[in-house]
Amino acid sequence: MEILTPEEQEKQIEAPLAVDGGKPICSPPLPYSRQTVLEVDIDAVTAVLRSPWLTTGPKVVEFESAFAKLVNASHAVSVNSGTAALHAAVFAAGVGPGDEVIVPAITFAASANAVIYQGGTPVFCDVEPDTLLLSTDQVVRLITPKTKAILAVDYAGQPCDYSELKRIGEKHNLALISDACHSLGSTYRNQSTGSIADLTAFSFHPVKHITTGEGGMVSTSSPIFEKRMKTFRNHGLDSDPKEREEKGTWYYEMRDLGFNYRMPDIQAALGLSQLQHLLDWVKIRQTLATHYNQLLREEAWIQPLALKKDRTHSYHLYVVRIDFSKLGTNRAEFFKALRAEGVGVNVHYIPVYRHPYYQKHLQDKIVDCPNAELCYEQILSLPIFPAMRLSDVEKVVRALKKLHHFFARRGAAQGNTPRRFSNENQ
Ligand SMILES: *Cc1c(COP(=O)(O)O)cnc(C)c1O
Repeated sequence: MEILTPEEQEKQIEAPLAVDGGKPICSPPLPYSRQTVLEVDIDAVTAVLRSPWLTTGPKVVEFESAFAKLVNASHAVSVNSGTAALHAAVFAAGVGPGDEVIVPAITFAASANAVIYQGGTPVFCDVEPDTLLLSTDQVVRLITPKTKAILAVDYAGQPCDYSELKRIGEKHNLALISDACHSLGSTYRNQSTGSIADLTAFSFHPVKHITTGEGGMVSTSSPIFEKRMKTFRNHGLDSDPKEREEKGTWYYEMRDLGFNYRMPDIQAALGLSQLQHLLDWVKIRQTLATHYNQLLREEAWIQPLALKKDRTHSYHLYVVRIDFSKLGTNRAEFFKALRAEGVGVNVHYIPVYRHPYYQKHLQDKIVDCPNAELCYEQILSLPIFPAMRLSDVEKVVRALKKLHHFFARRGAAQGNTPRRFSNENQ
């Protein structure tokens, strides 16, 4: 590994930008996220491939019970994506046509889409500017007689204010659904994410904490919700092929309109094996984030999102806010220049209501989310994943300093231009 002296580091910061033909700081480039798959994980999958049962079977049962234990929930129901997990949770909560569900304005579109799948209406709620978590004051303002549930998103990996959300939910008789696709492995007041809300949805997409390729899970303490979701993921049938085989029967009934959202055993084996690494990987993510926090403390122009004292953060994302206009640039230019330096930055997310589908869906309904609007212009997600090293964090910060140096110098040069002209006229 190349080690640079402070002088060499300073030189890198002052060198021409990679976007203008200079040498990139991160070479090879760092992605914003990348899965880790170990040999033991691969062995677990190939063992299933050699077994007689490939689709939903014994490995799914094992994965679900290990997962439930880990998040301290009585039940966990696996499905084949985080989106399916959200859909199953919204179904289990009984959301149907005419029902409203409060969702944060800044999240992945799937959080809101799940409500629409069930014929409900997502009502977009503003977020807190320092955390991008659901603003509980705004939640209260948006409750109507049609509100059926609150769907809270643990943005970036930090849990929402669940005791406040629970209090609001109980007062108004609302279901509390947690989209914890970012927050597996985090805690709120010493309670594991997955053991707090009525229903909690997780994703095992490769960028998330653990992966099954594609996959998801819903945890709950309710046996009724568990049963409803197990039926829902299997076309709404009251038994599955494995059960029928064991009972020696062919008969089943379709009770609800369900889907094929089943996770196969091949993927459950991967998930079960990955789950053994989760706590180590979350620790690595926290260490990387702490290193970012420490290095960025000296850069007043970059604001990492705030960390609440009563929670632990599992850092699916490491998000910062930058006022690009103060630097004399805009996010598009900054983003492009940072990517050219080999830093795989991203933006999470465009406010959901801004998507053309939602513009059409909302028609002339007014969405008032000033914090979401402001933050959207300022957010960047920096690379964070378990295989990353502390030296990679240092490179990312050096690339940020390089851009800051460039834009400050360019701003000063532009600011000086008129004065120089007037001097020449004298
Ligand atoms: C990843 C993600 C989802 C969807 O998960 P998939 O497994 O990709 O379907 C939903 N909500 C949030 C907040 C996510 O980050």
